[in-house]
Amino acid sequence: MTILVTNDDGIQAPALTALREVLADLGRVIIVAPDRDQSTTSHALTLWKPFRIEKPEPDVYAVEGTPTDCVVVATQGLLEEPPTIVVSGINHGPNMGDDVFYSGTVAAAIEGALQGLPAIAISMSVARDERPDFSVAARFTRRVVDEVIARGIPAKTALNVNVPNLRSGTYKGVKITKLGTRIYQDRLIEKTDPRGRSYYWIGGDEPIWKEEEGTDFHAVSNGYASVTPLKLDLTDYREMVEMKRWELTP
Ligand code: MN
Repeated sequence: MTILVTNDDGIQAPALTALREVLADLGRVIIVAPDRDQSTTSHALTLWKPFRIEKPEPDVYAVEGTPTDCVVVATQGLLEEPPTIVVSGINHGPNMGDDVFYSGTVAAAIEGALQGLPAIAISMSVARDERPDFSVAARFTRRVVDEVIARGIPAKTALNVNVPNLRSGTYKGVKITKLGTRIYQDRLIEKTDPRGRSYYWIGGDEPIWKEEEGTDFHAVSNGYASVTPLKLDLTDYREMVEMKRWELTP
């Protein structure tokens, strides 16, 4: 079995090594990760320019591209044998609720599922400036991988795993959750450069979460690991029925 490990934090991220260690006895672990931090690049694919792939050590590839590029190259010919499972993470910071649409970590798992592979994204609630110990999260990832291998997951489904930040010991337990709702407080901040021209930041206050039981956010904020199955079919079937009444025919 070949396990593809990727991330969006870049090839230097210590979490990649933590994952390789806990997965090593399952099969051949191959790391294919962006050559730099590609957080919040979502599902971007590099199509309009060529890019390099370096191989700093055996079974480690650094791609001059996005997390999605990494999964695409790994499944489309870079590796001698295609991966059997995709593990993306462990992200430095949570990826819950609506944030899954911005996350490169989750996008890599979604790309794996689009390529027909079982795929898992893992993220840990860590502050930006913190140097966390990923070992507890890595051990939990191994449990999830074992279950996915043993039981399988449906096609076009990816698992989104979030673990609380635990310095030692373990989480309180595990909750199977739905995506929570984040309330973004972003606004456009306009500044002026030394030459008098405007430039912009998307910024503002930290987003807040809707406190709702059963969500990923609720689980993690109460000390539980959270596992959310994500369906890639975003079709709103109920709304389809409703919309058949719309008078759209010219
Ligand atoms: Mn990241």
